[in-house]
Amino acid sequence: MKNTLILHINDTSIDEALLSQAADAINQNKTVILPTETVYGLGANALNSEAVEKIFIAKGRPQDNPLIVHVSNMNMLEKCVKSIPEDALSLIHAFWPGPLTLILEKSDLIPHNVSAGLNTVGVRMPDHPIALKLIDLANTPIAAPSANRSGKPSPTTAEHVISDMQGRVDVIIAADHSRIGLESTVLDMTHNPPMILRPGGVTLSQLQMLIPEITIDPQVHHSVDSPRSPGMKYTHYAPQAEMTMVRGDHSKVIKKITHLMDEHKHLNCAIICAEEHIQDYPNQNCLSLGSLSNPAFMASQLFTILRKCDELQLDYVITEAFAEEEMGLALMNRLKKAVGYKILDV
Ligand code: AMP
Ligand code: MG
Repeated sequence: MKNTLILHINDTSIDEALLSQAADAINQNKTVILPTETVYGLGANALNSEAVEKIFIAKGRPQDNPLIVHVSNMNMLEKCVKSIPEDALSLIHAFWPGPLTLILEKSDLIPHNVSAGLNTVGVRMPDHPIALKLIDLANTPIAAPSANRSGKPSPTTAEHVISDMQGRVDVIIAADHSRIGLESTVLDMTHNPPMILRPGGVTLSQLQMLIPEITIDPQVHHSVDSPRSPGMKYTHYAPQAEMTMVRGDHSKVIKKITHLMDEHKHLNCAIICAEEHIQDYPNQNCLSLGSLSNPAFMASQLFTILRKCDELQLDYVITEAFAEEEMGLALMNRLKKAVGYKILDV
């Protein structure tokens, strides 16, 4: 067990003296959990393989799952990659800082454990004042996957990280709820045309405004055996409960879910649904993601709701399906993984 230092830092008025302690820890090749606009990240010096090794150990992350490297300026980016192609530059100008990870050819400075042996590296510039300031103060790129234990939903609040990681890392920066609440969009720039490996905060239509040819890897919609993004093959985000998704015409969905709830009434059950639909399941335990009129908010609540399933010690959870448009694509991608791709079409 490590003696974890917890630093409470406010997003809007950053205490630089406190944050310097975290930057010093990064420079001593220690592990630091930092807030970002997507989810909390478990960070270490991306240029030091021993520091990076500690991330894998703290998370219990499989060695073949590469990490995303976070930078705070273009000089740092240039250190991490072989070259920055023209189309990558235009995406950077449009979407950085922000939830867009670009897969580019890695430079020799990036250790092999960061990229899990691949010759590419995922890089992004987070849109979060604490994350950016920390990288600046440490003056080194920070490798940071989501700060959950492997297999658990990504953490979007300080409470989540403290409960998962206290005693496993050197420093935790406890700040606000992650604004976006789902991980970044991962875009493979080494594929021609560029391909979305993981949907996230920057949507397909936003990317296609700059590069119309951009496509989506088929594994975003289905489970496949050997995805291009290694991380996509692991079961993620799954609560302890048995989970199923019911998809189709809403009146049929209501009937099916009500029937399934009845069949499982001897268990501790819940329904994950839109706020507008709570009334369709009278006397049932509903966990609302929020209103259908605000898909970005629904996406930001997903990991909190999935963690709630475990807090409530649920045995059986049914979720509605949502429109796979804009942020809904990322929401449904994570939700399908949470149900282990068990989907009942009605
Ligand atoms: P996390 O940091 O936990 O959000 O996970 C990072 C995600 O980015 C995983 O799904 C990885 O498989 C993916 N990723 C990172 N680097 C690469 C890379 N070089 N090539 C393909 N996917 C990557
Ligand atoms: Mg993750």
